[in-house]
Amino acid sequence: MTDTLTVAVLGTGIMGAAMARNLLKAGHTVRVWNRSADKAAALAGDGAVPVESAAEAVRDADVMLTMLYDGAAVSEVMDEALPAVRSGALWMQSTTVSLDDVDRLAARAAEHGLAFYDAPVLGTRQPAEAGQLTVLAAGPGERREELTPIVEAVGSRTVWLDRPGDATRLKLVANSWVLALTHAGAETLSLAEALGVDPDRFFQLIEGGPLDNGYLRAKVGLMRSDQLSPASFAVTTAEKDARLIAEAGRRHGVRLDLVEAGAERFRRAADQGHGDKDMAATYYASFDK
Ligand code: NAP
Repeated sequence: MTDTLTVAVLGTGIMGAAMARNLLKAGHTVRVWNRSADKAAALAGDGAVPVESAAEAVRDADVMLTMLYDGAAVSEVMDEALPAVRSGALWMQSTTVSLDDVDRLAARAAEHGLAFYDAPVLGTRQPAEAGQLTVLAAGPGERREELTPIVEAVGSRTVWLDRPGDATRLKLVANSWVLALTHAGAETLSLAEALGVDPDRFFQLIEGGPLDNGYLRAKVGLMRSDQLSPASFAVTTAEKDARLIAEAGRRHGVRLDLVEAGAERFRRAADQGHGDKDMAATYYASFDK
């Protein structure tokens, strides 16, 4: 393999489209497929080759990148793609999925002679657009060098882990923190407003101390300015991740009350009509309407 590869990007939503653009900037040949074809077609101007089926995208590709909604979507798309894939190709699976999904997808990859990398990412729309994601990549050590140009095109940091599942475990742990901070910001802001406390007074109080946090400030800033569209990470996707985390906790004997409550906040915000907005819209779940 050379450093310039043919990459099939399956799923060109918020994250997949940004990753495809950075793969193009790095000089790779990129075929893009998306269920709603308009999102793949929009990448033609960047030099991508939009195709009509997942099978067409993966045919003779060196690398497949799946960046879909969840494990069920990945299975469905790969049912169509796998029969067309070249044995020996690399599969970078970056959709956030459950640990069971990782096992199932890794087994299917093995049936087709693929090198499977469980490779979720940290970072949202803006880091994805800037090629600044952190990639958590767990898969065969002997093929790492071949995947390196891909992870370096989409991210600025790669954490290599040994076995499929290791990366998803770390991703779920990291997301439990991200989601908790977002909800904590929403509740702190709504409480301050309800009690007639100027939220700026709260931020002045914590400024520069161990309670201060840049992510909290950023998310609360979005809530205060009502800048929730377009989403960086949609409420519905965040609810999906919360449910994955809660399930992983239950399976492994820990009780995650905050994650469960957070999933309900996202559901309530979605029921209120905020499902497509940024997950900072958990703020609205503090109110009855
Ligand atoms: P998104 O914009 O909603 O994209 C989801 C993609 O999945 C779209 O291409 C969608 O196609 C496709 N899809 C959904 N169901 C499908 C199905 N049944 N069959 C085929 N395609 C299907 O979401 P995103 O924010 O890019 O997230 C993608 C993945 O990355 C998720 O697993 C998410 O948890 C993870 N992630 C997101 C972020 C973030 O900040 N956004 C950060 C890290 C990881 P359509 O366009 O046709 O709907």
